[in-house]
Amino acid sequence: MTRAYNFCAGPAALPTDVLQQAQQEMADWHDKGLSIMEMSHRSKEFVAVAEQAEQDLRELMQVPDNYKVLFMQGGASSQFSMVPMNLLRGQAKADYILTGQWSKKAIAEAKRYCDVHLAASTDFASAPTQAELELSADAAYVHYCPNETIGGVRFDYIPETGAVPLVADYSSAILSEPLDVSRFGMIYAGAQKNIGPAGLCVVIVRDDLLGQALPGTPAMFDYQTAANNGSMYNTPPTYSWYLAGLVFQWLKAQGGVEAIGEVNRRKAAKLYAFIDGNDFYANPVALANRSIMNVPFTLADDSLDAAFLQQSEQAGLLNLAGHRSVGGMRASIYNAVPEAAVDALIDFMGDFARRHG
Ligand SMILES: *Cc1c(COP(=O)(O)O)cnc(C)c1O
Repeated sequence: MTRAYNFCAGPAALPTDVLQQAQQEMADWHDKGLSIMEMSHRSKEFVAVAEQAEQDLRELMQVPDNYKVLFMQGGASSQFSMVPMNLLRGQAKADYILTGQWSKKAIAEAKRYCDVHLAASTDFASAPTQAELELSADAAYVHYCPNETIGGVRFDYIPETGAVPLVADYSSAILSEPLDVSRFGMIYAGAQKNIGPAGLCVVIVRDDLLGQALPGTPAMFDYQTAANNGSMYNTPPTYSWYLAGLVFQWLKAQGGVEAIGEVNRRKAAKLYAFIDGNDFYANPVALANRSIMNVPFTLADDSLDAAFLQQSEQAGLLNLAGHRSVGGMRASIYNAVPEAAVDALIDFMGDFARRHG
């Protein structure tokens, strides 16, 4: 078996150990004579797997007891509509912070349900400071994207929003370092970056915010329905849920978010240091706001982009193309991307620059 280094932004790298365990128990899960994905989601075996996954996630993130953890479907993009449907709570306005393509999409969707007040907007290469936020006292919530996956822009602080609940699209940075969940009204994250396979979206929501969905909200989109039914109002994506559980156990074995956070900061620091120290490459993001998960970079001569992508792939470094909307390159270095992958990338980049510089 050969495993290349995969820098895909999503669906993204999964830990090899997790894939091997899944492979080993694929056809016959725990001597039951069938696969986990062939079991009823109501069986005591699957319910135990599902509950263990929730418990491990709660432990990893130290989720306070007054928050529900929901395993939902429809990706992070469905949350762009579920957030206003559930959290407007009879109010007419929500604050949004615009820092990149994902917060832009969230805003476009929210406009279908409420007045969106832009609390701040940037050039997509930086995040606003707390002092720059123009927050509304009458907003139902404040929404932002702490890590913009496409632009590689990260908030270096958690916005202070007083009594107004803070809502975060943590898709590409959840579990990448310690986080104080109690600062948020709600956190959501599509699974396919740092959690597991696509098909699952984790929602962590403070329980006082539930039960006030817009009239007409479909049962499937109401957080209260999911909370009342252990996220099994209908058939959940059981295999993705199971695999997410394996990833949570793997992460615990790595020492949890504190330990992986240290590795993540080290991986990102060496890649940025290399980029900054080499005239051949550049990263456009403000120093304080550089993502530790997604590192976009450009070549001084973009006519070499195709050669860079072709040769990096040949070297076993996969999926380094930037998002189709921005071009250039992007290395996504999520939890499951080992430090050796970043070392190999830096070696390749140095070598490519020497040969083409
Ligand atoms: C990937 C991503 C999304 C979209 O996720 P889907 O599961 O494809 O809907 C939304 N927000 C952020 C920050 C992302 O990284």
